[in-house]
Amino acid sequence: MTGQVVIVGSGHAGFQAAASLREEGFAGGITLVSADDGLPSQKPPLSKGFLQGKQTEESLLFRVPAWYETNAVTLRLGVRVVQIDPLGSQLKTETGDAIPYTHLILATGAANRPLPCPGADDVLYLRNLADARRIGARLEQARRVAIVGGGFIGLELAAVAAENRKTVTVVEAGSRLMERVLPPVLSGVFRRVHEQQGVQIRLNTVAQCIEKQNESYSIQLSDGQTVAADLVLAGIGVIPETNLAQAAGLVCDNGIVVNEYGQTSVSNIYAVGDCANQYNPFARRRLRLESVQNAVDQAKTAAKHLMGEAHPYRVVPWFWTHQYHLKLQMAGISAGYDQFSVAGNPETDTFSVYYYADGQLIAVDSLNRPGDHLKARKLLEAGSCLPAHSER
Ligand code: ADP
Repeated sequence: MTGQVVIVGSGHAGFQAAASLREEGFAGGITLVSADDGLPSQKPPLSKGFLQGKQTEESLLFRVPAWYETNAVTLRLGVRVVQIDPLGSQLKTETGDAIPYTHLILATGAANRPLPCPGADDVLYLRNLADARRIGARLEQARRVAIVGGGFIGLELAAVAAENRKTVTVVEAGSRLMERVLPPVLSGVFRRVHEQQGVQIRLNTVAQCIEKQNESYSIQLSDGQTVAADLVLAGIGVIPETNLAQAAGLVCDNGIVVNEYGQTSVSNIYAVGDCANQYNPFARRRLRLESVQNAVDQAKTAAKHLMGEAHPYRVVPWFWTHQYHLKLQMAGISAGYDQFSVAGNPETDTFSVYYYADGQLIAVDSLNRPGDHLKARKLLEAGSCLPAHSER
């Protein structure tokens, strides 16, 4: 098959789409356009090994520069796309260039949700390598670090800062840590371990205002208290990047709406990764997943479909987080469970939680039990007998 595939976005989904197209034997042109100016690289280590100084920038690259030449993948990095013209099948860049396509793959990801409080201009967020470099440099200088958001990103940053002997405060709006995805038993373990490492956790609290005083900050909290910090970080969730798609008239609803192959409401435009909203058989509803697994597998599905192989997306969702000695691996989507059981030993931080809905296993969270996680993925894969054409 030939033609001109243009991919917008160079994260896990965008890169994988290019790699999979070549693996599938696509013989046409592939152009990867991204506002990010670095070579495509992995994201998860940015909040872990990279900030800890254990992983270099080079080690994060998906492929060495020569790979792009060998595989005829044209990189247009540091280039911002400002418009999609679906009728004319072309993109327009910020500098006015037109890029024609026969197929377009949107892998535009998501942007950090900005902290909605006065004085938040100096707050740093983590999304890409440039952010991680900036945070790393500031972390070296800082003694006191305040982190708004007790979700995955906020807590991974808190762990790195605490391991670097910083005075760390986490401000979380919810009543427990990582509440969006974890049950109380796991939130409790993470809270205990962070507190043992000296991290101050303020639950049910939001930042109301940040005042800058010379080189440091004073954060007014909703509970009336104040936190002093030399560096303020925030990880309070993301907003899918749907502006281009929306302006082009593609159907969007918490992300770009796609079918089981990744096609948007315009058949030669696909969307994959964090920006895509798709029916997920394991969650039994439409959703947007923010994970490496989802980005990679959706990209593979879209590449295959583009090559004429129609395999509906059907992969057990899995995620992980790594904080101190805690390695948590999550399989399936636990939201909506009506029963759970625990196997292992919560006192030694080595256990798995099995979630059920209507008597059927729907998800397993494994803490320091990698064997359970792998088995869980197989069990979930095998156990889900779902109608082939559920809601789309
Ligand atoms: P991320 O991927 O950025 O970590 P999550 O959704 O996992 O996103 O976590 C974001 C966390 O931030 C949630 O626990 C949420 O309750 C918390 N949060 C959102 N807004 C605020 C806020 N204004 N102040 C404090 N915490 C917030």
